[in-house]
Amino acid sequence: MATIAERLEHVHARIREACHAAGRPPQAVGLLAVSKTFDAHAVLAAAQAGQRAFGENYLQEGVDKIAAVRALAPQLADDLHWHCIGPIQSNKTRLVAEHFDWAHTIDRLKTAERLSAQRPPSLAPLNVCIQVNVDGGATKSGAAPQDALALAQAVARLPRLVLRGVMAIPDPVEGFEAQRALHARVRAVFDAIATSGAPGLAQFDTVSLGMTADLEAAVAAGSTLVRVGSGIFGARPTRAELAG
Ligand SMILES: *Cc1c(COP(=O)(O)O)cnc(C)c1O
Repeated sequence: MATIAERLEHVHARIREACHAAGRPPQAVGLLAVSKTFDAHAVLAAAQAGQRAFGENYLQEGVDKIAAVRALAPQLADDLHWHCIGPIQSNKTRLVAEHFDWAHTIDRLKTAERLSAQRPPSLAPLNVCIQVNVDGGATKSGAAPQDALALAQAVARLPRLVLRGVMAIPDPVEGFEAQRALHARVRAVFDAIATSGAPGLAQFDTVSLGMTADLEAAVAAGSTLVRVGSGIFGARPTRAELAG
């Protein structure tokens, strides 16, 4: 079985090739390692292989893991960045504000206002992305594309947040072209905000898009940050297996 370091190198090779195919420079696309359900030792293995940015979906699991990594390797922990990529309920905003460097899933102003108010003065402003729902109905999380610009303008005004970009989790579709077309809708929302002339967009540079199965299509459509879990850490245990 491949090691985490070997899988990480394979993902980097996929990103390089996808950039080449799309005529984009290889450094145009960053890699977020999605470590949900994997433990602090797995994070350290990836960190020792050079990975610096990690994504977590479940807030309490993420907070516990951040502390565990720090206890195991305090110096290395200083160099790591933690991204919240899961849904943020109103009563959980404090965990994100106090422990994470990024939050990707802002889809309403109220969440952003709470994060800004709760961000500790001792920490740098929290980097945030607007989550956009390009393919779902009203039940799927994310702002509707036509509402994203107004939300971005309001979020960009909050003092303790830095609006960095947009994020989406499109439903899986078959085939490169179909994936790319869906991803291109997310990139179009990013471009519309970036060129809107709204204040507070000096660091608006991130399109968080693409996972293990579809990162090539996301890179072709203009992703700047792919979120890869199983491609680095291996298959995740199912919920039933996790419950033991
Ligand atoms: C789990 C997850 C990922 C990674 O998925 P893989 O298919 O394992 O690469 C990326 N983004 C989000 C929001 C996730 O929940």
